[in-house]
Amino acid sequence: MLNDKYKIMMCDRITETIQNWEQQNTVEEQEIYTFLHNLKGTAGSIGMEGLSEIAATKLEQLEEKSSKRWEKENWKAFLFQIEETVSFFEKNVKRGQTEENDLPFIKRSKQNNFILVIDDDIVFASYIKNILESKGFMVIVAHNGKRGLELIYELNPALVFLDIKLPDINGFSILENINKIKSNHMFVTIMSVDDSKGNRAKAYDLGALDFIKKPLDADILISYVRNRLVFKQALELSIMTDELTQLYNRKYMNTQLEFLMEQFEKRGEQFSIAIADIDFFKNINDTYGHIVGDEVLKGFSNLIMSAKREEDILFRFGGEEFVLVMPNTSKNTAFSIMERLRTIVGKQPFKGNEQSFNITFSSGIAEINHQNKHPKALIEQADQALYKAKTSGRNQTVLFTKEEQISKKQKLKLIVIDDVAIIRNLVTNYFNKLHVPEEFTMEVAAFENGVKFLESNWYEKNTKYIILLDGMMPQMDGMNVLKKIRKEYSSNDVIVSMLTGRNDEEYVLEALANGADDFIVKPFNIADVTNRMLQLANQLFLKAR
Ligand code: GH3
Ligand code: MG
Ligand code: MG
Repeated sequence: MLNDKYKIMMCDRITETIQNWEQQNTVEEQEIYTFLHNLKGTAGSIGMEGLSEIAATKLEQLEEKSSKRWEKENWKAFLFQIEETVSFFEKNVKRGQTEENDLPFIKRSKQNNFILVIDDDIVFASYIKNILESKGFMVIVAHNGKRGLELIYELNPALVFLDIKLPDINGFSILENINKIKSNHMFVTIMSVDDSKGNRAKAYDLGALDFIKKPLDADILISYVRNRLVFKQALELSIMTDELTQLYNRKYMNTQLEFLMEQFEKRGEQFSIAIADIDFFKNINDTYGHIVGDEVLKGFSNLIMSAKREEDILFRFGGEEFVLVMPNTSKNTAFSIMERLRTIVGKQPFKGNEQSFNITFSSGIAEINHQNKHPKALIEQADQALYKAKTSGRNQTVLFTKEEQISKKQKLKLIVIDDVAIIRNLVTNYFNKLHVPEEFTMEVAAFENGVKFLESNWYEKNTKYIILLDGMMPQMDGMNVLKKIRKEYSSNDVIVSMLTGRNDEEYVLEALANGADDFIVKPFNIADVTNRMLQLANQLFLKAR
């Protein structure tokens, strides 16, 4: 369409102007005035009346010859609806038909305070507009249903006053239409002369919030609008935020990611995300209780909030997992940012039951590109990197790389340490023949005593171990080998099962106290041992997540 060409041109120009201004620290009011003045005229002439009306309303608040300068924060907030409308149009003009669930309805909508009046009674509509605008509300009027619907889609008004009897589309079908818009929190109030029971019931059934009988009382109107807008804001904030930490939640994160992905497509603005997961958080709950656990989550959020860069946005992804979205940031910069945060968190003492303790976290980073520009795909990549951070020892930051995708197989190594050759052979032969599930690879190794084992450089990163450790051995007994293993590796990576000839309670208790996970009494049945090993393997891999 011819008009679209001009709309695109105009939107490009607006974007350009705003981008230029963003480079400066402050903008002159005169410049904003001229910008809005032109916009008012142009937009109105090429079929973007909505935008023209916004420009007109804004214009009234400025002085033509003012020498005042506007801070970036202020002019950005002031021109917010214009930017939003432009990006909405660009998206829809480019993609043609708007998909219903694709509408950016709640995106940053807490700043959207338009009131739309759909009424064919021009005198009545203007009257409402005047009253409300005198109190600083922004009101737009549609004189028929078709225009009303257009404006609903274009401007995402916070509040709609809707007449039932309209010259074209009936108010009730407009209500039905609004209902179809997913994730929409538009408040609709029916205003009608006819407040028959039937009309009122139908209005409520179709989702109208209120029904007000005409003529209405101007004094009440203002209080009413304020009340609804305050309620709406609280509602939207609660939809977007996590109760415990007061951070934005996962739902809002997806909206933000979609928005950034649009910007990436349009302007090539890159960004990175990091998923951070507190290490061994379950232990904190287990040791100090859930209340302390909650405090740690709050403390962790506050710490990151105060240490992060202003432009980065922190979300609670769920449980003890957080996502930091870093606009205009490459993965390498994101890496240094996360490393810095990791150091800060590591130094912060937390308190639980009069004890002081420290926490660490692991994180995985992914950067936007043309292959992963869907929230799910990007998150999945960051999650794979996080997984690697966890399996490589935690308390570290890992960048997603293509290899992660391929080498997702989990490595398991089974080691038997026993001075009796028959046992070593039995175990190695049996385990070598085992069918191993697709998702992991298994190797088996045997050592004839603990000293040889400890000297063997046996540990490799990214590998999980199950060690069958004989208790009675020459040179160094099993208990001492166990202690040495536990000095360096926890049960999250290395599971130790003691082999003991004695079914001696005291000995078993000592082994458990020294960090053994399991014990097997000799003589054992190899099939039982196998089952036990598989269970332990599962435990290992589950723990890694
Ligand atoms: P890893 O290092 O592998 O991440 O170990 P982890 O213990 O941190 O991870 P895991 O996923 O095994 O356990 C997370 C725990 O977090 C389990 C759950 O009970 C706890 N949790 C989740 N949400 C909350 C919450 O809101 N408050 C508290 N106190 N605990 C929570
Ligand atoms: Mg977790
Ligand atoms: Mg964790």
